[in-house]
Amino acid sequence: MKKYNNKRREALVYHAKPMPGKIAVVPTKKYATQRDLALAYSPGVAEPCLEIDKNVENVYKYTAKGNLVAVISNGTAVLGLGDIGPEASKPVMEGKGLLFKIFAGIDVFDIEVDTKDVDAFVETVKNIAPTFGGINLEDIAAPEAFEIERRLKEELDIPVMHDDQHGTAIISAAALLNALEIADKKIGEVRIVISGAGAAAVSCTRLYKAFGARSENIVMLDSKGVIRKDRDVLSKEKDEFATHRKIDTLDEAMKDADVFVGLSIADIVSPEMILSMAENPIVFAMANPDPEIAYDLACRTRKDIIMATGRSDHPNQVNNVLGFPFIFRGALDVRATGINEEMKMAAVKALAQLAKEPVPEQVNIAYGETRFTFGRDYIIPKPFDPRLITTVPPAVAKAAMESGIAQEPIKDWNAYEDALLE
Ligand code: NAP
Ligand code: MG
Repeated sequence: MKKYNNKRREALVYHAKPMPGKIAVVPTKKYATQRDLALAYSPGVAEPCLEIDKNVENVYKYTAKGNLVAVISNGTAVLGLGDIGPEASKPVMEGKGLLFKIFAGIDVFDIEVDTKDVDAFVETVKNIAPTFGGINLEDIAAPEAFEIERRLKEELDIPVMHDDQHGTAIISAAALLNALEIADKKIGEVRIVISGAGAAAVSCTRLYKAFGARSENIVMLDSKGVIRKDRDVLSKEKDEFATHRKIDTLDEAMKDADVFVGLSIADIVSPEMILSMAENPIVFAMANPDPEIAYDLACRTRKDIIMATGRSDHPNQVNNVLGFPFIFRGALDVRATGINEEMKMAAVKALAQLAKEPVPEQVNIAYGETRFTFGRDYIIPKPFDPRLITTVPPAVAKAAMESGIAQEPIKDWNAYEDALLE
């Protein structure tokens, strides 16, 4: 209990001192003299205004738009805390701003919107979009989140991504491809159980299918059990993954399954279920903060398990920070008009490949002298791997170019990689 209180206190002090919050605005131009100020503001500032008025594209040349992402939430699905409202979501959005900045040099304004209405939310984001180079939607409850993202992607010509859906999908897909390689199984053949049918589960399953997972091999469950085709009143998303199999429970679904993906709630998977899975079972128990089955229990139950969780205190953490900073970096750098499937798949492949390469000593040191080598306990890169910034953004940028949505294609890749290291 004492330990918990200390941790709580430490977190609160961290946020409160020396000044409240985690991010601030920092000027990027000189401001020491009267002359500087006359350039920064009136009268000098009128010149870029006029240039942008003549040609709106100049906004990328004379303002911070091109490197500025909005992290936007209405606070309806914050972490595992649920609908805690816009103000209470602000620490999370500021935290995301911090991560964008330290991992990819991207500036963020966090925006907390006080509405649960889809139309009002979409209208708000559309109205403020001119400020930003990209939009990261965050912690918005399903099913509203699906509709909000779909409409904004359609109506805006800057990158828009709902990170809770696609971030998790991208990182877990990279982990899945590598786990399958280690288990010597093919994605088109494996039986997959998905526990959860919310924002994360739906987009993960869609992405696994894009990589070859087959509908007939997938069983998805929600709070009522297996989602069957013959169950009444299914949402559009649930219907997409409903099974024809005549089974109802997680017990039944897990028998002989090759892969379990948990994006639901804690402690619903038993050791017996793990024992009933096929050989080299892949278990991604990603409910936060407590997984569908505890890491240690699962590993004790099966020696041949390949296990990942959302937690940083165990190997194979499926952590969105491996994705969003680098995906937006690549998208912004080619002025992509969106973030499409090709770009997401390129990020998956880049992450999966990076985990197979020898790990630099500084990464081993950063994580306490463990020797990371590709295998059961190391299927995805670590967030502090300095190679991420030169690996993922170029892959994403290239995919944007090849899929025809890059407005400013990169011409000199070496120069681009050098710039990423600055
Ligand atoms: P969400 O949209 O609220 O979805 C939660 C889903 O879980 C719902 O479909 C719900 O069913 C289902 N569920 C509840 N109890 C269940 C049970 N006993 N068995 C099976 N399914 C059950 O939430 P989300 O954003 O998708 O997140 C879901 C979980 O994944 C959370 O714990 C979150 O922390 C975690 N997550 C982890 C990561 C990560 O590790 N990187 C990333 C994203 C999310 P109904 O549809 O019937 O309500
Ligand atoms: Mg989130």
